[in-house]
Amino acid sequence: MTLPAEFLSDAKALLGDKGWRMDAESLEDVATPWRGTFQGHTPFLALPASTQQVADLVKLCRTHKVAITPQGGNTGLVDAGTPHGEIVLSLRRMQTVRAVDPFNNSLTIEAGAPLVKAQEAADQVRRLFPLSLGSEGTATIGGLISTNAGGVAVLRYGMMRDLILGLEVVLPTGEIWDGLSGLRKNNTGYDLKHLFAGAEGTLGIITAATLKLFPKVAKSTAWISCESAGAVVELLALTRDHAGDTVTSFEIIPANAITMVQSEMPDVRDPQPSDLPWRVLCEISMASEAHARDVMETALQSAFEAGLAADAVIAESLTQAKSFWTIRESIPLCKRAYGTAINHDISVPVSQIPGFLDRAEQAIHEVSPSAEIIAFGHVGDGNLHYSACEPKEATAPILSNHAAEITRIVHEEAMAFGGSISAEHGVGRLKRDELETIRPAAATATMKAIKAALDPDRIMNPNRVVSLD
Ligand SMILES: Cc1cc2nc3c(=O)[nH]c(=O)nc-3n(C[C@H](O)[C@H](O)[C@H](O)COP(=O)(O)OP(=O)(O)OC[C@H]3O[C@@H](n4cnc5c(N)ncnc54)[C@H](O)[C@@H]3O)c2cc1C
Repeated sequence: MTLPAEFLSDAKALLGDKGWRMDAESLEDVATPWRGTFQGHTPFLALPASTQQVADLVKLCRTHKVAITPQGGNTGLVDAGTPHGEIVLSLRRMQTVRAVDPFNNSLTIEAGAPLVKAQEAADQVRRLFPLSLGSEGTATIGGLISTNAGGVAVLRYGMMRDLILGLEVVLPTGEIWDGLSGLRKNNTGYDLKHLFAGAEGTLGIITAATLKLFPKVAKSTAWISCESAGAVVELLALTRDHAGDTVTSFEIIPANAITMVQSEMPDVRDPQPSDLPWRVLCEISMASEAHARDVMETALQSAFEAGLAADAVIAESLTQAKSFWTIRESIPLCKRAYGTAINHDISVPVSQIPGFLDRAEQAIHEVSPSAEIIAFGHVGDGNLHYSACEPKEATAPILSNHAAEITRIVHEEAMAFGGSISAEHGVGRLKRDELETIRPAAATATMKAIKAALDPDRIMNPNRVVSLD
């Protein structure tokens, strides 16, 4: 896309020397997301340093009908933050912690700050910001809100949407909406902040957020071997009977994923070698570490007696707990290194997980008998990262020829079990059209009406989530 000369000179003047880039390396960098699956292109990278600069730039874009893709850490997985001809508006220069209020349990932070910065700011006042995921060093507050990110503590604290108290947003008209309220009760009409959570930058640019903080907790972390996915689901219920909502994380890991991680990272040690097909990584969080460990031990004792757990190890130190998590968090990277992986992010009701796993694997093997199924993730939320994999040294690669067919199977089975084809990664361009055939027509029509009303010039991350074309 060639930008109008007047737009370019006004944008450069507005943003200052540090506020824009047009060199090939910078443009290539923001056009290539983490996984490298989507390749985009952009003529201009804007790096505003303040909310006012964002607003002024949006007004300029509106005047010249220049489309914008807002971008944070560029770790999104659904082709939402990759530009396809739009200019990129990166929030990376806006990372200030504006306020921390430990008595109100709230934190106000700019949208370009990486998640770790919010976690550290909370920690400094003995509070917890609980969102946690593998990309937390890079993914930004604005991106996490815009994708309504999940992660490993949703079971207890909810998704990003549940952690927002207020937002500051530059609307597609260039107007600034200051909704940075720290209030927990504020019944004054439509709750606008929820429009922007999960909107993937299609309705405006989030420039800052007020987030909920929680009391700090101590953890007990266990690595548990189970005989079947059914046992894993029952184990979750039993653990919650003992620990209530102090079960923070409940992640499922198949044995073949551990083998895959070890083949790519030979230093990684399996905490509990076993022939059983499933492991659970379970975390209980309480005010005292001793109490959390007591509850974990009691829950595991009941699980052994009920035949739901075959073996278990409770971490003796934070370092050991971290080593369990390293295995879990390394699965996505190791899958990439291992070979071809057809990836999916689905959810079904927790009770339906065993049925879904059986049916999906059977159907995939009818199409591609050698496909290795790696299904791991947030089983406590009913959310599985479900991949069909094939090693790169496969002599007669067949998986990639069946990618569309395999995705159809996984999505159809998820829907048949009452699930969703996008649990936490969002829609982007990747799932936009498929979702239009799945969600109720009234929902799509309402989404399009909202988009058309807020973005009359269609400049704000067009064609993600829904298309008005
Ligand atoms: C290793 C790895 C592990 C991951 N694990 C998880 C996980 O467990 N759970 C999970 O939910 N996701 C996970 N993700 C996905 C990813 O980290 C999330 O989607 C994240 O929320 C994206 O944040 P970002 O800052 O990188 O946003 P980007 O990728 O830059 O953008 C994502 C979307 O948000 C929009 N956007 C970005 N900033 C703004 C803003 N300020 N205002 C308006 N719109 C904006 C973009 O236009 C785009 O539509 C993982 C990714 C990786 C690479």
